[in-house]
Amino acid sequence: MNIDHFTIMLFGLFIKLMLGVLFFIFWLNDRRGAVWFAWWSATFLLGGLAALLFMLRGFGGDFFAIGVGVASLIAAFGCCWQGARAFDKRRPLWLPVLLAPAIWLAASLVPGFLDNISYRVVLSSLLLAPLIAMCAVEFWRGRQEALQSRWPVIVLFATLALFFAARVPLVSLLPFPFGAQPLAPGWMVAFNLIVFFHALMLTVLIVAMSKERLELEQRTKAQTDPLTGALNRRAFMARGVRLVQRHRHQTAPLCLLFLDLDHFKSLNDRFGHSGGDDVLMTFVAVVHDNIRPTDFLFRIGGEEFCCLLPHTRGDQAHTVAERIRHQFESATVDVAGTPVKATVSLGIASTETFGHDLDALMRRADMAVYAAKRQGRNRVVVAAADDPVEGRMAPAA
Ligand code: GH3
Ligand code: MG
Ligand code: MG
Repeated sequence: MNIDHFTIMLFGLFIKLMLGVLFFIFWLNDRRGAVWFAWWSATFLLGGLAALLFMLRGFGGDFFAIGVGVASLIAAFGCCWQGARAFDKRRPLWLPVLLAPAIWLAASLVPGFLDNISYRVVLSSLLLAPLIAMCAVEFWRGRQEALQSRWPVIVLFATLALFFAARVPLVSLLPFPFGAQPLAPGWMVAFNLIVFFHALMLTVLIVAMSKERLELEQRTKAQTDPLTGALNRRAFMARGVRLVQRHRHQTAPLCLLFLDLDHFKSLNDRFGHSGGDDVLMTFVAVVHDNIRPTDFLFRIGGEEFCCLLPHTRGDQAHTVAERIRHQFESATVDVAGTPVKATVSLGIASTETFGHDLDALMRRADMAVYAAKRQGRNRVVVAAADDPVEGRMAPAA
């Protein structure tokens, strides 16, 4: 099959303009939240402009077709890089976006530059390859966010960057547009197909990645307590069972802490509901300061919390619980200028004593908290195998 070069360019032009408009509409739907769509819209529109200028070479002359055309292409990849930065909440870097095309334009004004294909191939590749490589680098930097599509995006940007970089050493060996040798049949089509393939795959994957992020954010929101930022009861149900099961298979110890703030009702009565809320937020900050990033804190009810400590023995959990208790007792909450003190009672249940059964751990830790309340509050009680199991007893007032 023999595809005419002009047809390929025309096809590419329409695809780029269509994608530019599509990303622009995506951006209009969420102007502040999804700035990256604006950058990627600019990427495709500038890419489309470049294609249009190349096609009009016979009318505008080399400075417009190749000088301004390639400058647009370079600016397009500069925008693509900034889109990748915006996607991971980094500020745009305007200098490279403007500087790289400016270098090209300046070179284009140098007499003889545009007539020398080798110069053009080498300089355009030297400007394009780093910009494209930076797209891969930016997505790599954000890899902690668990988005599956991120990995193929990194690979595609990296291969596209390598493709352009390879033109520099191959300039005297391969026909244009891979190198600077005279055009040979099929090479222009192959070049364009490689670029189209990357553009289309990247578009699909970038849209998929944006959608994955939205889903991840919604899932996180649905499992987070809006007041304190701790995980909520739904998250406890979803993650708790899985975590305990995993520890059962690994025969690893795990501890559950149950934490209940002391006399919280009276705090609310004295300092108002918002004062109580301030105390809750301080409490969550204290707990987070004292647990590992791999531990989980859940808000189970109003002033009741639960911690799951993976790979933790009872004695280690006791140390953590004492640290939380002590630090919270020492903390002062500023409620509209009034210093407020509060305490917490903690119960601990370990899989070493009660087996890998989330319900049993929860019940035993809850009973241990109530024992702590009966013993005077602001203390840690470890649930023991021989504790009576008739259920909670009313705490002492
Ligand atoms: P104890 O020491 O025995 O645990 O006493 P307590 O007062 O802490 O326990 P109780 O269960 O009697 O009261 C819990 C209070 O927590 C009652 C409720 O008004 C308050 N509460 C529940 N959710 C919230 C909330 O989101 N914000 C505030 N400020 N208070 C809350
Ligand atoms: Mg309480
Ligand atoms: Mg309570």
